[in-house]
Amino acid sequence: MAAVQKVGIVGAGAAGLTGGILLADAGVEVEILEKASEPQTLGSGITLQGNALRILRDLDVWDQVQAKGYAFSTLGLRAPDPAGTVIAVLEDIRTGGDDLPATLGMYRPDLTAILRERAEKAGARIRYGQTVTGIDDDGGSVTVRTADGGSSGFDLLIGADGLHSAVRRAIGIDVEPKPTGMGIWRAFVERPEDVVRTDLTYGGPCFIAGYCPTGPDTIYAYLVEKAQERRPVDGPRVMAELAAAYGGPWNQIRATLDHGAHINYTWFTSHVVEGPWNRGRAVIIGDAAHSCPPTVAQGAAMALEDAAVLAELLLSADHLTETLWKEFADRRLDRATAVVQASVQLGQWLLDGVRDANVPGLMNSLSTMLKEPA
Ligand SMILES: Cc1cc2nc3c(=O)[nH]c(=O)nc-3n(C[C@H](O)[C@H](O)[C@H](O)COP(=O)(O)OP(=O)(O)OC[C@H]3O[C@@H](n4cnc5c(N)ncnc54)[C@H](O)[C@@H]3O)c2cc1C
Repeated sequence: MAAVQKVGIVGAGAAGLTGGILLADAGVEVEILEKASEPQTLGSGITLQGNALRILRDLDVWDQVQAKGYAFSTLGLRAPDPAGTVIAVLEDIRTGGDDLPATLGMYRPDLTAILRERAEKAGARIRYGQTVTGIDDDGGSVTVRTADGGSSGFDLLIGADGLHSAVRRAIGIDVEPKPTGMGIWRAFVERPEDVVRTDLTYGGPCFIAGYCPTGPDTIYAYLVEKAQERRPVDGPRVMAELAAAYGGPWNQIRATLDHGAHINYTWFTSHVVEGPWNRGRAVIIGDAAHSCPPTVAQGAAMALEDAAVLAELLLSADHLTETLWKEFADRRLDRATAVVQASVQLGQWLLDGVRDANVPGLMNSLSTMLKEPA
């Protein structure tokens, strides 16, 4: 028998849905509380590395993910010149194993929809419009309070409620994400024919100019700058100005920015909750427990891995014990911390203008670690 029979999950993002699928598949009663009033249909793209794809294959959704997304296994580096000169094309390490591509880009709402349908098929109940405001843990069960005055009781509460986690605060963990000094513009636009992988340009007006194909017809393009106050409404103009220095596919991307492209701006953050991620019968996972700038595109991968490891431990134990929580911390903390530190380091080198940084060395050692299953 599993350590829990009835689990509440706060947040229907990558972490919450993954945990919900695995627990519901094993017969655990799962209720997912999500503050959004309905599933998100607008968003940007996401870059999923092999270790994220490995979890998605374990969830039995790889065929759908592959059909919606755009897979590739090389990384292009371009010069910040008017021709967008290709300097190098590097073979990426396949962190999910050699039978999966190194990387797959997709539209975020498509990924969420695939996971949501799979969770519902597994028997998880997803309740939208439920903002969790507090929890009470009496040692034998945990009760969740929502903004509409409702409450529900569970054997375990999983806080998969992202960066500004209400569960993290409710259980007395006072770590909060801190800005790293960079901001990113992202636009979801048509795919220029010659965009067949992620290409990155370091330097020019931005720290990084890049794009990732998200399907046969779409890409998301991004520009990373020093963090500043920006208005999303200025997105098409500002992105076009910043991108003016970049050539190659950027010529076509620039031209599509003011054709109703979905554009957003956000700051990079980082944090790691040290030590065990639970307090009593509540535990945090994913961005609630750690966040990093997307410089190595591993945030969602870590969220998926957290959920998969937690579900595995809950399903193989008879009770919630300190041993279980220690094992969870042992398997997740160092790995997630290494990802956060490498992601922050890559950004810091750019902020500091370090020109001889050992980026390949850092990427290689991180990828070698991530190739080992979580
Ligand atoms: C600019 C940017 C680009 C990124 N690009 C990548 C990338 O390319 N690849 C990658 O792997 N990672 C990327 N990441 C990181 C990635 O987005 C996150 O790590 C991942 O989404 C975390 O998933 P999660 O399920 O933990 O949290 P979220 O996806 O944030 O989900 C949390 C859910 O909880 C809900 N919620 C919040 N509060 C409450 C509440 N009180 N009650 C009920 N529900 C609540 C939210 O509405 C949300 O649906 C990027 C991050 C940023 C900022």
